[in-house]
Amino acid sequence: MLCYGTSGMSVMEMSHRSKDFMSILDSAENNLRELMQVPDNYKILFLQGGASSQFGMVPLNLMNKNNKADYVNTGTWATKAIKEAKRYGKVNVVASSEDTTFNYIPKLDAATFDKEADYFHITTNNTIYGTRFHELPDTGEVPLIGDMSSDILSKKYDVSKFGLIYAGAQKNLGAAGVTVVIIREDLAGNQMDITPTMFNYKLFIDNGSMYNTPPTFGIYMCGLVFQWLKDMGGVEVIEKINIEKANTLYNYLDESTFFSSTVQGNDRSVMNIPFVTGNEELDSKFIKEATAAGFVQLKGHRSVGGMRASIYNAIQLEGVQKLVDFMKNFETNNS
Ligand code: PMP
Repeated sequence: MLCYGTSGMSVMEMSHRSKDFMSILDSAENNLRELMQVPDNYKILFLQGGASSQFGMVPLNLMNKNNKADYVNTGTWATKAIKEAKRYGKVNVVASSEDTTFNYIPKLDAATFDKEADYFHITTNNTIYGTRFHELPDTGEVPLIGDMSSDILSKKYDVSKFGLIYAGAQKNLGAAGVTVVIIREDLAGNQMDITPTMFNYKLFIDNGSMYNTPPTFGIYMCGLVFQWLKDMGGVEVIEKINIEKANTLYNYLDESTFFSSTVQGNDRSVMNIPFVTGNEELDSKFIKEATAAGFVQLKGHRSVGGMRASIYNAIQLEGVQKLVDFMKNFETNNS
């Protein structure tokens, strides 16, 4: 925090063109490349503006041949991505689960996919509703774009199946303020004329993420997280732990007659697990008592209600086991 190596200064104080920072950026990139086995024809960018900026940056850069794209609407973030893309071209919503508050991943029918779409957009994990794509859609030649904000590095993904992946850092990568983009190189460089300079992928590729001052300290933090994950054994190891964590909670939810999960089967997220008692007063009581016992940030999103356990990479199995023990006690005392 205060002094990086022998530099005599914090990363916060360093010039982004300094040797020390360049090596921090290089090693963060190399470690992420290794962790996700990113093929050589993909570039890794460290940008700013959050995943929300990507809702506009993706269409501005990629809706460039036929000016249209396919989107699957699986929640609030997908809805926002769709709304933004509509400003720049024609959006075909191939499927949606809005009818039941996004509590499932809609079945996709390839016959409804537009073969001339410039890309096909999905949200791989739906943070608010606790669903995830169990299987990636086969979009053929149409590049698949993944908003991976809430499950990047939680499980093995085959990057080569995507044209572009983006993620805000604040869940599994580091601190808020960094947005990671992994882009197949040939997709960049055909942005619309109206594309703001700061929204041009090619410019950031050509400048190694340093067209302007990058979020230096945030990138340093991401680098530390990548090193931590590598030291632990990489994505395969954390994936097993994540599955065990999720199963611990889902198994209890399935056997409990008091709490229930809002999502069923293969659509269940491994990162975000919403659950309810079916009674709003009991939900509030649970959240109050859980908070007092040290289980914080369990309130569900207002559109779903109830509770949500976000068990990102940083949460250990022990934490989930303790939550389940607490829930069992609450069940006994209140049923
Ligand atoms: N997409 C997903 C899946 C998210 O979970 C979030 C944030 N929770 C966003 C996009 C928006 O990210 P940001 O706040 O970084 O713009």
